[in-house]
Amino acid sequence: MSSLFDRSYTCPVCGNNFTSKQVKTSAIRAKERKKDFHALFSGENPTYYGVICCPKCGYAKFENDFIKELDSSDRLIIEQAISSHWRTQNFCEERTTEIAINVHRIALASYKVHNAKQSIIGKLYLRLAWFNRELGQDEEAKRYTELALSTFLSSYEMERFEEVPEKELEIIYLIGELNRQLGNYKEAIRWFDMTIRHEFAYKNRLLKQYAKEQWALSVEENNRFKQGR
Ligand SMILES: [Zn+2]
Repeated sequence: MSSLFDRSYTCPVCGNNFTSKQVKTSAIRAKERKKDFHALFSGENPTYYGVICCPKCGYAKFENDFIKELDSSDRLIIEQAISSHWRTQNFCEERTTEIAINVHRIALASYKVHNAKQSIIGKLYLRLAWFNRELGQDEEAKRYTELALSTFLSSYEMERFEEVPEKELEIIYLIGELNRQLGNYKEAIRWFDMTIRHEFAYKNRLLKQYAKEQWALSVEENNRFKQGR
């Protein structure tokens, strides 16, 4: 039996009704979760299906955002910037890692023309880093890790998190972890410190635990790096 099913959507830009595959909750088997929240699965990977793309007009966003109604000016922006260049492409069937990469890159365009928050653009870049890493495309993975890092940094500097202060904690932690992955150990240590001392750290014990572990790992890696020089 397939672990996928069809979910129905109506495109808020062009009104097209279509179905797109999703992974059945009962079929999700998480195998491993990395310290940048990258989860690996045995069987279908639900992360691949996070973005919905209208095959008719090219509007693409994470499901929660895709189903939101748009006002006429936001619709017009998509029609002019995306739909006018769009040739029918179908991302509604089973997705391989390569297809997931393509559809996430397409979603970047919809978010960018809508001046989306840096935190959401960073989330797309981070996923693109994961998917490229899964394929062993290390250069691309590194490029997207750098993009995710700089985008999360702008998010931290420019965006307010009053409604969900825990979100800020997550961004600070990820800035630490992405710095560590890129070999910027001293920066990583500084941001992990900020995570551990954050006023809402008590609200997310798992994250605080991760920050402590990754802090220790960064210190170790930094020492090894200094010895190697
Ligand atoms: Zn559409």
